[in-house]
Amino acid sequence: DRIVSTEADTTEGSFELSLRPQTLSQYIGQDKVKDNLKVFIQAAKMRQETLDHVLLYGPPGLGKTTLAAVIANEMGVNLRTTSGPAIERPGDLAAILTALEPGDVLFIDEIHRLPRSIEEVLYPAMEDFCLDIVIGNGPSARSVRLDLPPFTLVGATTRAGALSAPLRDRFGVLSRLEYYTEEQLREIVIRTSEIFQTSIDLPASFELARRSRGTPRIANRLLRRVRDFAQVKGNGTITTELAQEALELLQVDRLGLDHIDHKLLKGIIERFKGGPVGLDTISASIGEESHTIEDVYEPYLLQIGFLQRTPRGRIVTHLVYEHFQMEVPEK
Ligand code: ADP
Repeated sequence: DRIVSTEADTTEGSFELSLRPQTLSQYIGQDKVKDNLKVFIQAAKMRQETLDHVLLYGPPGLGKTTLAAVIANEMGVNLRTTSGPAIERPGDLAAILTALEPGDVLFIDEIHRLPRSIEEVLYPAMEDFCLDIVIGNGPSARSVRLDLPPFTLVGATTRAGALSAPLRDRFGVLSRLEYYTEEQLREIVIRTSEIFQTSIDLPASFELARRSRGTPRIANRLLRRVRDFAQVKGNGTITTELAQEALELLQVDRLGLDHIDHKLLKGIIERFKGGPVGLDTISASIGEESHTIEDVYEPYLLQIGFLQRTPRGRIVTHLVYEHFQMEVPEK
């Protein structure tokens, strides 16, 4: 229930859905990715072919699911959505694939979590639009080849490195989503506030953008909470003062860091003189799992240069001391 979490929480489904851009022109930022896709989409449409399979990778909350829906919309086809962990048996995947209509986009979120046995069903489906299925058991079992309608697979993953090479090689388009700039996040905040029919002043929109950790999902969530605050404490308009007050109450500091980031950074400063200190030692000292630190807490701190990974462990940089207005200790 971290307000700066990059994962959607369960109450956010319908809220997020209503905010999703529908077209490439409504999709803010990620210009390189969009420019490429524009060409590929146009070319596929001119040739009346399906779009090549697309792999989208990058941290959570940056718009992979949204982009998959935009691609389907731009191609004028249906979107079918599933995820790696949801497909447990080859039969699950076969059922999804055989139900597709020609040209459809199949979106598989967290595709790195597909079991290997299922990946193998996917290879001929991606390459030749067919399925090899085994009918019957034992000596009477035989393999049957089933034709599929041509389709576009859009895979999303937070870790491109966790994908097997044979699967990765079967994508024609590999696109990496980047963290958003402050200005792009501000545009997203403005767009969302227009959808909410809430007015927000210019400095307040900057304030929210700056604290959104490069991530649209967080920008939208902060806006939603601040809007509640403006409704109850003000007249509904998000003024700079109201925004600052609300963000203070939500304990999101001016760079978007929350109490967990503070605990992590201050822990390294106070107990380990700023590092280097190993991940497992940090984990034991602040009582958080190593992989949670690595996958959830660290990426943004690394991104903004507050933490560095060295062979001897993690180090906090001078930026952290400046942020906390602390003196850099003598070593
Ligand atoms: P991911 O699949 O990468 O975790 P999502 O596609 O679910 O991220 O995006 C999270 C939310 O952020 C969406 O509901 C959408 O409203 C918003 N969003 C993401 N990317 C953009 C964008 N480029 N422009 C506007 N809003 C965006």
